[in-house]
Amino acid sequence: MKFNPEKCSIRDQRMKPFIDPDEIWGLINNTTATPGRIRQIIAKSLSKERLTIEETAALINADSPGLIEEIKEGARELKKRVYGNRIVLFAPLYVGNKCTNNCTYCGFRTSNKFAVRQTLSDDQLVKEVEALEENGQKRLILVYGEHPAYDARYIAHTVKTVYSVKKGNGEIRRVNINAAPLDIDGFRIVKEAGIGTYQIFQETYHRETYQKYHLGGRKMDYDYRLTALDRAQEAGIDDVGIGALFGLYDWRFEVLGLVRHTNHFEACYRVGPHTISFPRIQDASAASIDPRYMVSHEEFIRLVAILRLAVPYTGMILTARENAMVRREVMKFGVSQIDGGTKLELGSYSGSINEDQDLNREQFRINDSRSLNEIIDELLEDEYLPSFCTACYRKGRTGEHFMEFSVPGFIKRFCTPNAILTLAEYLEDYATPDTAEKGWRVIEKNLEEIDVQKNAAEIRRRIELIKTGKRDIYF
Ligand code: SAM
Ligand code: SF4
Repeated sequence: MKFNPEKCSIRDQRMKPFIDPDEIWGLINNTTATPGRIRQIIAKSLSKERLTIEETAALINADSPGLIEEIKEGARELKKRVYGNRIVLFAPLYVGNKCTNNCTYCGFRTSNKFAVRQTLSDDQLVKEVEALEENGQKRLILVYGEHPAYDARYIAHTVKTVYSVKKGNGEIRRVNINAAPLDIDGFRIVKEAGIGTYQIFQETYHRETYQKYHLGGRKMDYDYRLTALDRAQEAGIDDVGIGALFGLYDWRFEVLGLVRHTNHFEACYRVGPHTISFPRIQDASAASIDPRYMVSHEEFIRLVAILRLAVPYTGMILTARENAMVRREVMKFGVSQIDGGTKLELGSYSGSINEDQDLNREQFRINDSRSLNEIIDELLEDEYLPSFCTACYRKGRTGEHFMEFSVPGFIKRFCTPNAILTLAEYLEDYATPDTAEKGWRVIEKNLEEIDVQKNAAEIRRRIELIKTGKRDIYF
């Protein structure tokens, strides 16, 4: 959507910092959370309206067991109503771990002399992508340290390389990016390579804490990072992902920071972020982390449920940083995307560089190393509909989460059918016999639930085409 400077609120200005810690702490300290108010807020969210930052603060302050349960139930219901049972799958692909920054929680930081520094050669990158395709992956997020070697042109080159790899029936249909902030020209270069989402996490929205953890390199500049995705939008990337690294500072502050960031985008660019991520700090090579703000399991579930209610039409990503049990539990409260078959060591999907796990080669330790098939199997067991859909972005329907949310019938017309078709491809090409059996059962169940007058017959026709070898057919 084109930006209209007249319409940007006075409070929010493009490419200007927007976090006011006094405002956030004022809300946390002074917002009341009576049962009546909390129920009203949950009802507002369920009626498909985004919450204000004050309302989100009220949910944060609702800390009696009964109200926490009501918030969780609200989030569960909202997820069901808005997103149905789909879960989108992706995998991270680490391209290079050279880094000039010194983030004390990260194994890649420049001062970590134990870290083994590597950048995939083009050939190794191709091998990695082939291995991922042979597992059935269709959506990747490429991850890079921050280093002059990984400039916009290099990132664009790696994106194009990934798209060019086709192995068997495999191909990568959407490449997202998690890399350092760029300037506007840099973002333009990367956009032209055909990226999906550009993801940058603020890590912590609390300036002093940010300064405590970022001790060297360009990333020390809080404001440059905070305004990074504004620059991406100026360059025409309206598909951006925000996130906070939970465990650096008070989780309540970070949740309000994320909501404030969302409001800022809406005020200035008329579109919220495509996704929100909420990684929790994990063990990393020689990491140094103040344990005071570690987020407990209960707090983690609470914060996911609160975010779900606060920003109903933003995708929420849960990664393999969390263990299988936590993922299964947290998914119910509003997660729409997870990674599967994840490996963080460079070259480890193809075994072209590293085969053994070694913390000095990873950014941090992951806790869910199950294969993609195992993850899909569990999703099917729980009656989710795993999806590799990339249709909206390839049809130019950006802002898809907003559409899912606001366009009547959008999910039935597009999302569920495309989830079914991409799952059918996976079952035909990559699933174990056991998983395939479960998968076809889940597909049948979903088809039965789709209105007969809608496109169930057309979906069945396309599934037959997939069975005869046709690929990449979507609505
Ligand atoms: N180097 C770029 C940056 O810092 O934005 C790109 C990606 S960095 C490799 C990806 C994200 O991993 C960081 O933004 C941070 O939130 C997260 N991360 C770093 N260390 C972590 C740790 N010990 N545990 C969990 N997540 C971590
Ligand atoms: Fe480098 Fe990113 Fe790790 Fe910071 S979080 S040290 S910028 S790779």
